[in-house]
Amino acid sequence: MNRKKRIIILGTTGSVGTTVLEEIAYFREQFEIVGISCHSNIERAEMIIKNFSVQAVAVTDPKISVPRNFCGKIFRGIDGLSAMVESLEFDILVVAIAGIDGLRPVLRAIDRGKTVILASKEVLVVAGEMVMGLAQSKGAVILPLDSEHNAIFQCTRGDNRFIKRLWLTASGGKFWNQDRQAIEHATVTEVLRHPKWSMGKKITVDSSTMANKGLEIIEAIHLFGVRPTQIEVAIHPACTVHSLVEFCDGSFLAQLSPVSMKYAARYCLFYPERVAVREPSLDLFQLGELQFFRPDFEQFSCLKLAMEVAQGKQSQRIAYNAANEIAVELFLNEKITLQAIPEIIRGTLSKMEDKDYETLEEILAVDQMARSRARQFAKRFF
Ligand code: MG
Repeated sequence: MNRKKRIIILGTTGSVGTTVLEEIAYFREQFEIVGISCHSNIERAEMIIKNFSVQAVAVTDPKISVPRNFCGKIFRGIDGLSAMVESLEFDILVVAIAGIDGLRPVLRAIDRGKTVILASKEVLVVAGEMVMGLAQSKGAVILPLDSEHNAIFQCTRGDNRFIKRLWLTASGGKFWNQDRQAIEHATVTEVLRHPKWSMGKKITVDSSTMANKGLEIIEAIHLFGVRPTQIEVAIHPACTVHSLVEFCDGSFLAQLSPVSMKYAARYCLFYPERVAVREPSLDLFQLGELQFFRPDFEQFSCLKLAMEVAQGKQSQRIAYNAANEIAVELFLNEKITLQAIPEIIRGTLSKMEDKDYETLEEILAVDQMARSRARQFAKRFF
């Protein structure tokens, strides 16, 4: 029997991290978790350490004390993530932390030629050229865990030569077929009740404004080496078709599975093989009609802004992501309305220069600058 694949998971206590852990637990003869990270949920991290005999842990929240009675390696703070990736022996890095904190550890893993299973779309949004360029030169494989990109990857299997267009499907969130009034008066509680997917708070808000799909457009451009004009978005409320590829010869391929991240996680963990499971999956006779609708780019201006940003320079993409994060946090704290989110993104973008960057330090500095500009601009909506 082959030796177990050694895995580091960044963001084990979040919703995607939990799904990956469940899959690993299910197939535990084939995987070994050598390192995990958590932000502040130390109780859950301690349980994972015990259940999976983990040897190393990174705790990113500096206010949190490290796990009790743990005699493995301990890493602290955001820098601890890349230090852990640097020092452990492993085969696969799973990046399931939100935001751009995953960027440095992803670059460290790629530099070591390791496989990266990437759920953090922000990493490719802010530094797509750098990440994909390094992966190519080091021969490292990047497997997308975001369900749409995972679907596309399952259709192309890494061969992007014959792609005509990529069709990203979107649940449409809560408001896609409602009038503007519903959006205007949307409360935090309403927005957090997503009709289909159960996810973290930030991504659930992003799903309502469709900023999530905006980030995914940019993510897809970098992952699959396509132009912005080769991306289409289709609202598919059933969320059964996770995305489609239209090839140059007129054929389409699509990936279907039930609404759960576990199928994407499973595909990534076993790639390039597929594992046989006994559980039932989709019942085609129960599916009924598969419907697709054209999104309204005027109503969902986060989508329109993302398309514009995708055609511009890197500073714009960094600012789009940073301003959205700031605005979502303000919305969750009930300081602004849902509709103010695209306004804050637009205002921040107008204050940024149009520029590409060579180094990680520059990217992180521009990200910080965009955040402070977004905070400043947002004050007019309080
Ligand atoms: Mg997605």
